[in-house]
Amino acid sequence: MKRTSHISELREMIAQEKNQGRVIALVPTMGYLHRGHLTLIERAKQTGAFVVVSIFVNPLQFGPNEDYSRYPRDLERDASLVEESGVDLLFHPTTEEMYPRPIVTYVEVGQLDSMLCGAARPGHFRGVTTVVSKLFHIVQPDLAFFGQKDYQQYLVIRRMVSDLNLPIKICPVPIVREEDGLALSSRNVFLTPEQRQEALILSRSLNEAEEIIQAGERSARKLETRLRERITQESQGDIDYVEVRDAEDLSEIADIKSPVLIALAVRFGSTRLIDNKVVEVERHV
Ligand code: AMP
Repeated sequence: MKRTSHISELREMIAQEKNQGRVIALVPTMGYLHRGHLTLIERAKQTGAFVVVSIFVNPLQFGPNEDYSRYPRDLERDASLVEESGVDLLFHPTTEEMYPRPIVTYVEVGQLDSMLCGAARPGHFRGVTTVVSKLFHIVQPDLAFFGQKDYQQYLVIRRMVSDLNLPIKICPVPIVREEDGLALSSRNVFLTPEQRQEALILSRSLNEAEEIIQAGERSARKLETRLRERITQESQGDIDYVEVRDAEDLSEIADIKSPVLIALAVRFGSTRLIDNKVVEVERHV
C-alpha cells in the first residue's frame, strides 16, 4: 500500500494510475476505523478500482463547542487496517496541508444543509461539502463511497455532485451494525457501558417504527410522537430530533408514502448519536 500526507505526491500517484486506465474510487473518512468503514472499502474494492482511502479529521465541520479536539484518532492502527483490507493508497493530510491559509471559499448545498443535523449543527454540512469537494478535486475519483449511517450527508453530497456536474458516481453503502443493533460509529468509544446499553433504544425504536408503518400507520406526526415517547420512557437519552421525512429530498411529510426516512439524533451524556432507517411503503395500501 502506498501512503502519503502530501497533496502533490498524491496527485502524481493518481496520475500514474489514471495513465494506465485505472478507475479511481475514493472512500473519505475521519479515521478511527471500524467495520462500517471497512465495509465501504470492501464495496470499493469489489468494483476493481484503484482504492484511495482518506483519513482527515476536518476541523471545518465541527462547531466551536463540539468534539473536534477529543475526536478519537489512531493513524497507525488505521493504516494497518486499511493495508490489510487491500487499499491501494492511503491519504492522510495534516490540517496545514488541507488548510494552509484560513479558508474563505466554501461549497454550500442550500436547504438540505439546514434541517435535521444541519439545524442542530450550524455550518456542519458546509464544512463537509467544502472538504469533500477539496478531496474530490485532489483525488479526482470516478467513484466515491458514502455510508447511509450519515444519510443526510449522503443526500447532500449527491446533490452537490449533481448541481455542480461533477463526473463522480456516488455509491451509498447500507448501515453496518453491531450484533445487538447499535450502528457502528467512531464516537461509540465515548459511551459508558450503561450508555452503550441505553443507546440500543435507537435501533430498537427504528425497528418498531417500521413495524408500526407495516401495520398501517400513515401519519408521520403520530409516528414521531410514538418514537419520542418510547425513547424518553426507556432511556435517559436527550432527544435532539426524531423526524419522519421524504427519503429522497428530506422534505416534511404529513402522510407516510414510499419511501420515508426515519431519522434520530439522541444525546447520551456528551455523546450525540445518530441512526436512521429508510422504510418502503406499499403504494396501494
Ligand atoms: P466518518 O469517519 O465517521 O466520517 O465516516 C466515514 C464514512 O463511513 C461516511 O461515509 C460514513 O457514513 C461511513 N460510515 C460510518 N459509520 C458507518 C456505519 N456504521 N455503516 C455504514 N457506513 C458508515
